Amino acid sequence: MKSEQLNLLAKELSTCTSCPLRKDAIAPVGWFGNPDSPIVFIGEGPGGLEDNYGCPLIGPSGQLLDKALWAAKMTRDRVLTTNIIKCRPKSNRTPTIEEGKKCAQLWLEKELSIIKPAVIVALGSVALHYLGNPELRITRARGQWFKSSQGFDCIATYHPSYLLRLAGHSQVAAKWEVFHDLEAARNKVTEIVPSYNLMSKEPTNLFALFNKR
Ligand code: SF4
Repeated sequence: MKSEQLNLLAKELSTCTSCPLRKDAIAPVGWFGNPDSPIVFIGEGPGGLEDNYGCPLIGPSGQLLDKALWAAKMTRDRVLTTNIIKCRPKSNRTPTIEEGKKCAQLWLEKELSIIKPAVIVALGSVALHYLGNPELRITRARGQWFKSSQGFDCIATYHPSYLLRLAGHSQVAAKWEVFHDLEAARNKVTEIVPSYNLMSKEPTNLFALFNKR
């Protein structure tokens, strides 16, 4: 069972001290969602609220992601969300490519080999650089399909934190681009696994499921 394998992996992850990022975080933040999901969303790393609650993408970025998912007919409980980096970098700085690579090779690769998703959505540059190529630019590469080194079908889109930093017309335009990318990902999943239900009747209330740690 995938859920049992992921639970064992989560126990191992909770004790990881393999890099200096661990000392500035409360604890590693793993993944959330349905282990049988054919679609996985990969962000950058935990921020303050994620570190406090031990849940990926629960803060303002995650709340915007949830709205975008709802618009594209998906809910967080039916998909799986995770990050490249599991420990919050001090002051929420962007993790380096080397930090991302080290953590993802230790943990994300194991998650993906258990979940075996049909489609991966890379949220932002850090995920795009790890899954694709460090030379790629998110503004040019978003919306285009590529294969990860493990052979997964991936599509990149903007990280919701980028959308939150935009304003006015630029923000509206970028939100539409994200919507179209999510729609493309959803359509591909539906084509490959037509029987899987990607949407619950209500949006997922993560704060009802996680307590501060
Ligand atoms: S960031 Fe990753 S590799 Fe570093 S301590 Fe945390 S879980 Fe381990």
